[in-house]
Amino acid sequence: MCGFTLVSVDLSMLFCNLDHMSTSSTTAQVLSGVPVVAGVAYAPVIRPGARPPAPPADDTEINEADRPAEVARMKDAAAAVADRLRERAAHATGVASEVLATTAALAQDRAWLGDAEKRIRAGNSAEQAVSGAIAKIADALARAGDLMAERVTDLRDVRDRVLAQLAGLPEPGVPVPDVPSVLCAEDLAPADTAGLDPALVVALATTLGGPTSHTAIIARQLGIPCVVAVDGLDAVPAGVPVMVDGGRGTVTVSPDATSAARTVEESRRDAHRIAQWTGPGRTADGHPVAVLANVQDGAAARTARQTPAEGVGLFRTEMCFLNRDTEPSVDEQARIYGEVLTAFQGAKVVIRTLDAGSDKPLKFAGHRDEANPALGVRGVRISFGNPGLLSRQLEAIAAAGQATGTDPWVMAPMIATADEAKTFAAQARSYGLTPGVMIEVPAAALLARHILEHVDFLSIGTNDLAQYTMAADRMSSELATLTDPWQPGVLALVEMTARAGAAAGKPVGVCGEAAADPLLACVLVGMGVTSLSAAATAVPGVGAALAAVTLERCRAAAQAVVQTASAADARSAALAALG
Ligand code: PEP
Ligand code: MG
Repeated sequence: MCGFTLVSVDLSMLFCNLDHMSTSSTTAQVLSGVPVVAGVAYAPVIRPGARPPAPPADDTEINEADRPAEVARMKDAAAAVADRLRERAAHATGVASEVLATTAALAQDRAWLGDAEKRIRAGNSAEQAVSGAIAKIADALARAGDLMAERVTDLRDVRDRVLAQLAGLPEPGVPVPDVPSVLCAEDLAPADTAGLDPALVVALATTLGGPTSHTAIIARQLGIPCVVAVDGLDAVPAGVPVMVDGGRGTVTVSPDATSAARTVEESRRDAHRIAQWTGPGRTADGHPVAVLANVQDGAAARTARQTPAEGVGLFRTEMCFLNRDTEPSVDEQARIYGEVLTAFQGAKVVIRTLDAGSDKPLKFAGHRDEANPALGVRGVRISFGNPGLLSRQLEAIAAAGQATGTDPWVMAPMIATADEAKTFAAQARSYGLTPGVMIEVPAAALLARHILEHVDFLSIGTNDLAQYTMAADRMSSELATLTDPWQPGVLALVEMTARAGAAAGKPVGVCGEAAADPLLACVLVGMGVTSLSAAATAVPGVGAALAAVTLERCRAAAQAVVQTASAADARSAALAALG
């Protein structure tokens, strides 16, 4: 019933059970998007400064004698932009500083600067040359897709900064507000979001962007509510008060001020309750559910150890080697894996074998060019043509287990058939390891009971399961509503997998982003999922949500959700069942 994106608050009260929303204002509108960071904020909108206009295509040709000076003007502008970004990087910390430094480096990137110089020497103005050179590279990146395409926003941001510098205009980007504000934009460039002060920018909302976009990453780091892919957000002008609910994925335009303030206060109390949760994971009536962390290296594991996470449900090993040209030796791999095992000594650690390919290509995995890398030789499929890569990794994992006195579980990504699971399990067992597989391909979910004949556990990767079930690229911001893990088609496959695990008496975890959503986590437990693994920052929220509901309520929510036909209805059904 809540499938439409623009409804009056009173209608949302009636149909969507969003019972905390304002009731007194008939002008308020609720815009729906994809929730990214939970929490509620209420403040006026600010918008990034206008981008400089594109230079006219029929610009007059620069005289040959003036071209060297024009090249110097272009290079000076790029250098000034890079200097300013580096200066901001020096005063920022963490991811913000890295993002600003990376954008500064992009402003000095030889590929586009060289092309722009050539264009000026052929008669273009500096403005035309910058636009043309960056458009050419951005097009190539967009065609390459996946991670490459994500750099397009960064490059266009650099272009606009250089064009503004050339025109003597103020730097485009986010203004520093006088009062706490909600930053709304079509999309936010990394350099816009890096260095934001969370005391002044209290929430983010964008028209584009997906749950893994830069906007989302920065919002998570700042801990401010964030909703992306918000339909209708472009029509909300600066200065209008809005309430952003990052848990529900809504932006309420001009809500009743009193009830908005009350909702913000309730959300603060929630945040306090979450901070008090210390584990272990269990429902209010004591049903145990392991709440685990997703990590990508030893440093992340040590950080996760500071949270109440009971172990590691997903160690993405490929992330350790993204910059490597050659395969790390067994000894080096064993040392790296050992760091994570040591951080969680005595706890459960699930190590995933290399999920190379698609958005995470590894130079040493020998990927061939493919038209559709997400549907190509990725994950466990790499080992079909290169079995040594997998066996050396299993050897390293076994060695790390021995060196640390631990018993790591190991799982393969992108399993599609029971035969693949059987082959992987036999190999893992030959190294004394406990084998499992990820359920990310719909065929694997449908045949989970056969796969369970060979392995000791399953772990559902809802990010890829949503991508493949909905036939929608998980990196596409335009398709973010399709790759929402609340899509009932995706949840039906999760339920089927959990049921197969219960019938076989074997554990079934969820380690995709779905496990980081406290409301959905309760539904997953109601479906029979036995563990939840999420980003370390999401662990307390998930644990606290489970602690507040009984298993019976979770089961009722799961039953209600599987009856629905849309992601919005699934959320509403869960809210109604869980209260
Ligand atoms: C998933 O697909 O849900 C998953 C956890 O794997 P990754 O996000 O690393 O592809
Ligand atoms: Mg995956």
